[in-house]
Amino acid sequence: MCRSSESPIERIKSGLADLPAWLAGIDDAGLGEPLVDGRGLINRLEAVLAEPMRRFEKSGAYRADGALDLVAWLRWKCGLSGGAAAERVGIARQMENLPRTQQAFARGDVGYQQVAAIARTADHIGVDAVRRGESSLLEAAARLDGGQFTSVAKNFEHQVDAAGALAEANRAHQRRYLHLGEPTDGLVRVDGLLDTEGGAIVKTALNAFMLPGKDDDRTPGQRRADAFVELCRRREVRGHPDGAGPRPVLVIRASLDTLVGSPGAPAAALEGGGVIPAETLRRHACDSAVSRIVGLGELEHEISHSSRSIPAPTRRALSARDHHCVFRSCDRQPIWCDGHHLQHWVDGGPTSLENLALLCRPHHRMVHEEGWALQRKRDGRFELSPPGRVPAAARSA
Ligand SMILES: [Zn+2]
Ligand SMILES: [Zn+2]
Repeated sequence: MCRSSESPIERIKSGLADLPAWLAGIDDAGLGEPLVDGRGLINRLEAVLAEPMRRFEKSGAYRADGALDLVAWLRWKCGLSGGAAAERVGIARQMENLPRTQQAFARGDVGYQQVAAIARTADHIGVDAVRRGESSLLEAAARLDGGQFTSVAKNFEHQVDAAGALAEANRAHQRRYLHLGEPTDGLVRVDGLLDTEGGAIVKTALNAFMLPGKDDDRTPGQRRADAFVELCRRREVRGHPDGAGPRPVLVIRASLDTLVGSPGAPAAALEGGGVIPAETLRRHACDSAVSRIVGLGELEHEISHSSRSIPAPTRRALSARDHHCVFRSCDRQPIWCDGHHLQHWVDGGPTSLENLALLCRPHHRMVHEEGWALQRKRDGRFELSPPGRVPAAARSA
């Protein structure tokens, strides 16, 4: 087939088909330029499609496929989310009114995210107001990344229309929610939307708990998840930097069979839904200041006839002796730590200084649930063995 008779879309497709082999031949050091160029092409393609999308919408031709509007059509035909489809339709509508932005978009001077922000601003405060500030907006859009430019556009909106900006903030505030799923396969899904202010408060609070420890191999996402749980756990301990104060209560229902690890024993149940394995129960029972265990049967007698929480003076002495988590090279301070029984109290271990060790939450978990063994040697130093080195029955707790 003669190449000139192909449609431009076919020509782009054949160029794309050649692209992987061409990129594979480029040195790693030379990849920056093609990556920037490729990103620019994606932006320019979005720009070129805006005008036909507007025509397609005006004509109503999408109805021939049975779609009620262009957003629905884009979701169905192009697999876009509702938000992504609506954003593109919004750009297509506004570009007709903002030819300078359209030209800068088509030349590749400004990127898709920046143009989306300008189109949203035009939706909020009107095209005329945007036209009056278009030069400075485009200048900022060419210089700033998408996130930074969104703040500039919001600022501009506020300058032009403080009441409108407030109304929009109020609409956004109405959309806030936090959803906590039911436990499924050992996980609880958390998702939600916060207004800007709420998001900033949560982010600052989480950041304070997210610093990686020494040799910390958790991913940023795992550290954020741990910080979220830690923040909730600490609700009650303000003013108790040694961790000796009362803590939020996690109520667990369990039988003695489960706690001693008898084969065939049922899992422990969390009040409020969900179950946890026996080893997790043992970890919570290990430092029962963290949680309250409601015994069933024999365990009820066991728990109600003796206090299993580590007394405050013992906990302070433990912090003074160990200073930080005793796991290899870990330096998490006592407030991050539980008091771990080297020999579990349910196996007859006393709640006394000689039988206790400070372990931060992730390491306490590794000792119980992941089978690391921790022993205290005669000279007072702690010895750790990875899982599998020590028979489970000889494990310390
Ligand atoms: Zn423990
Ligand atoms: Zn640790």
